[in-house]
Amino acid sequence: MFDCHIHTEFSSDSKMKLVSSYERARELNMGLIVTDHMDLKYPDEGKFQFDVDRYFEEYYRLRNDYLLIGIELGLRTDCINENRMLVQKYPFDYVIGSVHVVDGVDIFQEGFYENREKKISYGHYLNFMFDCVKNGEFFDSLGHIDYVTRYSRYDDTELYYDEFSDLIDEILKIVAEREKAVELNTRRLDNKIAAQNMLNILKRFKELGGQVVTIGSDAHDTNSIGRNFEAAKEIVSMSGLRTVYFKERKIQFIK
Ligand SMILES: [Zn+2]
Ligand SMILES: [Zn+2]
Repeated sequence: MFDCHIHTEFSSDSKMKLVSSYERARELNMGLIVTDHMDLKYPDEGKFQFDVDRYFEEYYRLRNDYLLIGIELGLRTDCINENRMLVQKYPFDYVIGSVHVVDGVDIFQEGFYENREKKISYGHYLNFMFDCVKNGEFFDSLGHIDYVTRYSRYDDTELYYDEFSDLIDEILKIVAEREKAVELNTRRLDNKIAAQNMLNILKRFKELGGQVVTIGSDAHDTNSIGRNFEAAKEIVSMSGLRTVYFKERKIQFIK
């Protein structure tokens, strides 16, 4: 297995050392792709951005078959070209495209949900994701489609496929047509409802022509590397998709 989503000290919100994360992954008999955060034009200037030259200087010499160099790019509609150019400029193995900020607001913030029904704020999030994905042919896997559930303030925060099937379908169709992956982010998979909802979304991805999924823990500390991977493997197998990772931007099947 490969854990395809982890954050080390180049991410504003992580202190993890690459070497210790790699050691942990090897203990678990896993490969690792480091995917530090790059959210260009983030509302707090400079936050969630890093020096990519230095990233490659420090990490590329450690790169091997089980330690690959990726990035988690914050998708937005107002820096499509900047994101595209960044991806072209460096020899990444893997690029995750993730929505963290919607119309300039980090959806971690309460303001995004205040005075809005869930149907409205989640619909807005998914609409924005659709615009980003449509213009984002430069990423390999669509990160945590259920991200909005992490920080929203509703009694029931879950993202149910049936409630937003039109929007989710439009997003998944584009990813499937491009023969890219959807990520199964394992952070919430100890929650049975969350796991069921991600299974429903992945099954639908398969029906729409999708073929591959990447699995990532989104770890910011060594203890979280590989978390809930057993549950993830089961979900992927039930979805009919195949688990892959990326190397030199090409799909690698897990044997
Ligand atoms: Zn993310
Ligand atoms: Zn992440």
